[in-house]
Amino acid sequence: MIDLPGTSTVEVHCEKCKHVYEAEIIDHVDLSEDRELIKNLKSGKANRVQCPKCKKVMYLDRSIVINFEPQNLIVVYDPKATTKAKREELMQSFESVKNFSETLHETAEEVEFLILNELEKLKELLNNYVKTYM
Ligand SMILES: [Zn+2]
Repeated sequence: MIDLPGTSTVEVHCEKCKHVYEAEIIDHVDLSEDRELIKNLKSGKANRVQCPKCKKVMYLDRSIVINFEPQNLIVVYDPKATTKAKREELMQSFESVKNFSETLHETAEEVEFLILNELEKLKELLNNYVKTYM
């Protein structure tokens, strides 16, 4: 339904040895296609990176857009979305994606858009999804 790039490359600063490296991270998940990611999403560890120098593993606190296809539900999970300002910022980026993507623009009116910052709530939605569609 929604055609967005699933990953992007970011700069990671190793918290142990301070080495800076690039890592591929997930920013969009389509549950109907990326089912193997559900387990990682539920544990809050979807974006695991490892320092090539000292092997330190880190989990990045980034926002992830989760498309609950075939449900008309899009969830932005962001552990840092605890303030109203941050949530509004996310809402705006959704609006711009919506305008950018033609398919999403057409369907966005029927799609429910949720911003979550609590892993427990995300887990609940994922569990319901698994029960219904898998
Ligand atoms: Zn390191």
